[in-house]
Amino acid sequence: MSFLLLKKGSKLYSILKLKCPRCQEGDLFDVKNPYRLRYLDKMPHYCPKCGEDFRREVGFYYGAMMISHGSTTVIAVIVHFTVFHFYGWAIAPNIISLLIILNGLFPVIFRSSRAIWINIFSKYDPHAIENKIFHKEEMEIKK
Ligand SMILES: [Zn+2]
Repeated sequence: MSFLLLKKGSKLYSILKLKCPRCQEGDLFDVKNPYRLRYLDKMPHYCPKCGEDFRREVGFYYGAMMISHGSTTVIAVIVHFTVFHFYGWAIAPNIISLLIILNGLFPVIFRSSRAIWINIFSKYDPHAIENKIFHKEEMEIKK
């Protein structure tokens, strides 16, 4: 079952591999390592393989903040119950472990939230690369 969800063509594949939601070949981000913070939010304007528009409109990724908020909440609850198991209601271990874990996971949460968000609005197309979308701005750069 799990290997079926991770097959190319599923949304989970695109989200976990940070691939273009339309062709699932092109990378969503310029630099693969999320911990190179300078490039954390650097995405190509269009998918290099199929031409899917990654920016769509100004402020498109504001919606990804809602996804990020949700996943951060889930992580916080898990951390809280784990810490609670060892330290009870003590506030300091709770806050310290939350700060460490959320800071450490921030780049991963940031990028996966964007991937989830764009996957809500885009569908996989197995023929996306053959039917590449060419954009006027790209053509002008090539001249
Ligand atoms: Zn693509």
